[in-house]
Amino acid sequence: MRRPIVAGNWKMHGSRSETAALIEELLSGAPAKPAAACVICPPFVYLQEAARLLRDSIFSLGAQDVCAEAHGAFTGEISAAMLKDVGCEYVIVGHSERRLLYRDGDQLIARKFAAAHARGLVPILCVGEQLADREAGRTNEVITRQLDAVLELCGAGALGHGVIAYEPVWAIGTGRNATPDQAQEVHAFIRARVGERDAKIAAATRILYGGSVKAGNAAELFEMPDVDGGLIGGASLKGDEFLTILAAAR
Ligand code: PEP
Repeated sequence: MRRPIVAGNWKMHGSRSETAALIEELLSGAPAKPAAACVICPPFVYLQEAARLLRDSIFSLGAQDVCAEAHGAFTGEISAAMLKDVGCEYVIVGHSERRLLYRDGDQLIARKFAAAHARGLVPILCVGEQLADREAGRTNEVITRQLDAVLELCGAGALGHGVIAYEPVWAIGTGRNATPDQAQEVHAFIRARVGERDAKIAAATRILYGGSVKAGNAAELFEMPDVDGGLIGGASLKGDEFLTILAAAR
């Protein structure tokens, strides 16, 4: 049985007071024993305060990115050890905004995954095709390339300690989600690809869907057999909507 995960990626939004207010709203509305694990990923500078506010709650803390290096002269970077030190359990790697806007390539993302895993963080590896790839029938090819970079560097065992998020780039922040069938097709492909290396790990790995998940479409997406929850962007910034999405994951 795979316990679903609902993770909120707050991206570069909010202030100190807005972060505290949103956490307060989540804490006051959260169920005592949700079926899904729940993770929130605020901006780096608010992680420490978020960790304090979330202590002993149902929420786990995640970061939005991590440096591939362990320590040293890497101005502006944040290491996996630092994230662990301030209370993070999860970290997103390979989000499409990092891939496209900051040129994080497959090899760098695989090294970030390895760095997070080595420090005991759970990496949430994002994979997903752009619209042109989908229209050209290259979805599986793109996903395979993104997945294989991590499988080759880290192995299936390490991947099994992480979480995969299928996030079609054309669905992120656009209001146009993948249909449940489109999501299921790619999730099944991802599971099969991991299964070529290790069937047991593939069966146990959580694969989240991300891309315009909202309160109104979460249940039908999460119902699909290979969809194990979601990675939520915009809708994670509204406490009541995020809690409704959390309740949809069973
Ligand atoms: C995301 O950025 O990971 C995401 C899924 O965003 P949104 O839910 O806003 O599409």
